[in-house]
Amino acid sequence: MTKREAQLRAGRLRPKSGANLLTLQRNSAIDRYPFAEISPRLEIVVSPRAKRLALRLCPKARVMNLVVPKRASMKSAYEFAREHEDWIQEKLSELPRRVRLRDGAVIPVFGQDRRIVVLYNENLKFTDILLKKDELIVMTNKTDPSSRIKRFLVEQARAKITALAEEKSAAIDRDYKDITIRDTVSRWGSCSSDGRLSFSYRLIFAPKQALDYVVAHEVAHLAHMDHSENFWDTCESISRDFEGGIDWMREHGHTLMRFSA
Ligand SMILES: [Zn+2]
Repeated sequence: MTKREAQLRAGRLRPKSGANLLTLQRNSAIDRYPFAEISPRLEIVVSPRAKRLALRLCPKARVMNLVVPKRASMKSAYEFAREHEDWIQEKLSELPRRVRLRDGAVIPVFGQDRRIVVLYNENLKFTDILLKKDELIVMTNKTDPSSRIKRFLVEQARAKITALAEEKSAAIDRDYKDITIRDTVSRWGSCSSDGRLSFSYRLIFAPKQALDYVVAHEVAHLAHMDHSENFWDTCESISRDFEGGIDWMREHGHTLMRFSA
């Protein structure tokens, strides 16, 4: 509950519009039922378009969405969720375990598993990180270097993705404006109409052919801003292993979300 909602409930503020009022009524309707007892990772999504109650696993956000049509009652939604309680818990428990970026964790970097080895020394002036064949060596004066490790991985991803984008865009004789590396939940990559490419740093945890495919996909958009046959031909022509990459992203892409700083 936000501060504003709390004030609204206490009657100190008037809702600004009908929409707010609706949300408020909805929220208090949700609060009447102990959805969190079923699972704290069950999220209620009230949808104006949905025709019936539905459960949808969202592996990227690691939650189960309970889609509730606008006209449906919260009581019926709650009963529906209770009926499927075991299934909800089972599906959520099958999601890959979280891996934190800390000493001892094993993370795949460019398709190769590497163990994080933190060498703490309070006398060091700064953190130095080395990417080895099987290890990621972190020499640091920080008791928790996880955000520093993440920054290192972002920079490694940037260097690799930039090199691939340069090679692929040259192959189709197109230019891009710039490349942004982010930690986004919704997309692995994007290409704007003015040629700005953006990628998720999490692609660093994917096998090489998968990373390569995502870069090829966004670079191919520099030539075709759609998903036409011509687009897919271009994408395939600049991918090292088109089928392998696209299959891996489809089947395992969500597992890239399990790493966190
Ligand atoms: Zn696309």
